[in-house]
Amino acid sequence: MYQSVINKRVLLLNQNYEPLTLCAARRAIVLLFQGKAEMIATANGLKIRTVDRSFDLPSVVRLQQYRRVPFKKIMLTRKNVIIRDRNRCQYCGSTKGPMTVDHVVPKTMGGSERWDNLVCACARCNNSKGDRTAEQAGMKLLKKPTPPSYIMFLQRDSEVAPQWHPYLFMDSRFGGATT
Ligand SMILES: [Zn+2]
Repeated sequence: MYQSVINKRVLLLNQNYEPLTLCAARRAIVLLFQGKAEMIATANGLKIRTVDRSFDLPSVVRLQQYRRVPFKKIMLTRKNVIIRDRNRCQYCGSTKGPMTVDHVVPKTMGGSERWDNLVCACARCNNSKGDRTAEQAGMKLLKKPTPPSYIMFLQRDSEVAPQWHPYLFMDSRFGGATT
């Protein structure tokens, strides 16, 4: 139990509240103790207990000093399109079978290799769509494809904590860039 709590993911914000990365709770706690970060949100009621004290497990912490970070962009690759869409066909919603990457507007019709024109599609949907736009094929996308947020990408294996939402929506620097 202690092991899993100490490894829980914490959203680390820069001094200007911009999301920086995710870290293990263990690291966030060290930053708090060293006075290098402040608690912004706690994880719902979860506590960390040591021999003589108990304190709230952090969910969001903010660095006291601004840290310069290199621009982080998710590389546009087949694999990353499929990861962004969580291995779910964006037409029928299936998550079974090997997934392909579909150009919403086909290359032959001038569709480009961009986050907003590529979606994860099962082989069946990709085949039946063929060289047509989704509209022409009478197929509807589950959602409009967008560039992935860097943080959401890091958190692809599990749910994004509700405490993180206010900060992730500010994530224009990482998530807003189109390729
Ligand atoms: Zn499908």
